[in-house]
Amino acid sequence: MSYDNVMEYKLVPTEIFPILRGCSGCGGMQVHTCKKNFRINANGNRLDVWLIYGCAKCGHTYNLPIYERIDKNRLPAAEYRKFLENDAAAVFRYGTDKTILRKSRVRIAWEQTDYELVRQAENRGDMAAEETKTFIKLKNPFGFPVREDKIASEILSVSRGKAKELLKKELLVVSIVKEDTFNGRDT
Ligand SMILES: [Zn+2]
Repeated sequence: MSYDNVMEYKLVPTEIFPILRGCSGCGGMQVHTCKKNFRINANGNRLDVWLIYGCAKCGHTYNLPIYERIDKNRLPAAEYRKFLENDAAAVFRYGTDKTILRKSRVRIAWEQTDYELVRQAENRGDMAAEETKTFIKLKNPFGFPVREDKIASEILSVSRGKAKELLKKELLVVSIVKEDTFNGRDT
């Protein structure tokens, strides 16, 4: 099948994932937002590194373990410096690392996470023409739970109803590629 319009976008978070966990301060299941700083504890040659979050309701602090009792010599000096300096890129990298979040059994508060659609390639024909066929490939390396009609409505600037109609008529195909490709590679 050939398409008049072919687009490729990548969906990326614009902020560190807010997380959902039971708060030991106020007792409820609460959203916690990242304070964008690390905490390091050294005990001899062993290091603990945490990323710090605060409960959105009561402010109670939660420390998300990044490294636990790691041998200091196993941690590259450059990485250690990033923890000391609260390097913004490192904060983002660890704060969006699903392996680390999963390990501590915290859930990502997807509803509170903003994202942006980054255009990778776009070949738009005459969008106003009748029966124009559109193919959207969406790379979703962070695994956002998104729906095809919502993404299409945002990319094409049409209502969700219109997007649903186009999908139903097969004038629009949205292919969501979910695999985790963000770890160290930007594909
Ligand atoms: Zn709380």
